[in-house]
Amino acid sequence: MIFNNVDFDTYFKHYPDKAGYFGKYGGSFIAPELQKAMDEITEAYYSICQSRKFIAELRRIRKEFQGRPTPVSHLERLSDALGGKVQLYAKREDLNHSGAHKLNHCMGEALLASFMGKKKVIAETGAGQHGVALATAAAYFGLECDIYMGAVDIKKQAPNVARMKILGANVVEVTHGLQTLKEAVDAAFEAYSKEYKDSIYCIGSVLGPHPFPLMVRDFQSVVGIEAREQFVDMTGHLPDAIVACVGGGSNAAGLFAGFLNDPVDIYGIEPLGRGPKLGDHAASLTYGTEGIMHGFNSIMLKDEKGEPAPVYSIASGLDYPSSGPEHAFLQEIGRVKYDVIDDEETVDAFFKLSRMEGIIPAIESSHAVAYGMKLAKTMEKGSVLINLSGRGDKDMDYIIEKYGIR
Ligand SMILES: *Cc1c(COP(=O)(O)O)cnc(C)c1O
Repeated sequence: MIFNNVDFDTYFKHYPDKAGYFGKYGGSFIAPELQKAMDEITEAYYSICQSRKFIAELRRIRKEFQGRPTPVSHLERLSDALGGKVQLYAKREDLNHSGAHKLNHCMGEALLASFMGKKKVIAETGAGQHGVALATAAAYFGLECDIYMGAVDIKKQAPNVARMKILGANVVEVTHGLQTLKEAVDAAFEAYSKEYKDSIYCIGSVLGPHPFPLMVRDFQSVVGIEAREQFVDMTGHLPDAIVACVGGGSNAAGLFAGFLNDPVDIYGIEPLGRGPKLGDHAASLTYGTEGIMHGFNSIMLKDEKGEPAPVYSIASGLDYPSSGPEHAFLQEIGRVKYDVIDDEETVDAFFKLSRMEGIIPAIESSHAVAYGMKLAKTMEKGSVLINLSGRGDKDMDYIIEKYGIR
């Protein structure tokens, strides 16, 4: 399928190109000593990850350890409640081991580390979800794991800190600046530039310098490939539309990868938080402009000095001031439509899915559920597949405290 001069039959061969560009987005903007380390990872990715042995091992792990394939569920009662003309379905990444899609790329990255003979994986974490997923993968492979985390986040995210420690990770407290994610990113990069001979850096989404947006997209594409096959098996046809929430954009990139070359409408949903004022949301593709941060060129939210702006979302997994370069590209060519859902609509969807389907969704995923419901109301007939990126156990206490039971 050719769309706006982009040939989707051969898309994965050409996007990104060898320098890591999706159109003008992506690339690698980092210090020369780190670039050496990145080049090593890029080379290993192209040689090792395409090898039969690597692919076979990853496939085995996904089946025997992660519990893949995760199912696609028909959301019958929810569809009926919306009038019954449009059928909603969910890809159940909440049932992936450790409760979200993040383990898909963490297992890939950690397997690559062990194929490369590395002893340690290094990463930063904000809310702790990426840290927990990477600590899980590191434990599985017997790798050391250093997770850099701001002191403020450590206090706020006690259960995830406990999980990481139980899994054997070393949680390194970052005490400078605002003591949150940005400082943790800097600290993790700095540690990595000193230790790259024995370690690899593992990013938490389709972000950062090349090859991470490529590598994480490819490891997550299992979601879309499975979902397409399962959906066609169940219904005999493709969905009319697919929906995923977008923070950095990894669960969305994974789902979309299975459907980019199909006549399917694709929606990426950003968090509108409290509203469209800068500082009240994290809808970077919707309200942002082109710029470079954290080593890559994409669309980002900037303050008046051109620095990454403060962002907010009810979903801590979505509050990042940019999104992966592939999303910036897919938006630019119009293949994917990016839209927003606010906190209120999200909480409403969180309770609706819980009550009507017996599935408590992550508050991140609830953005996609809310949009799927909204979309269904605008359609005469057809079907919508929603990516349920994770389960909501982690969000229950906060939602009950702030919103009560609805
Ligand atoms: C981290 C997280 C997200 C957001 O990350 P993406 O890279 O945008 O997918 C979404 N859902 C859940 C459950 C998460 O943990």
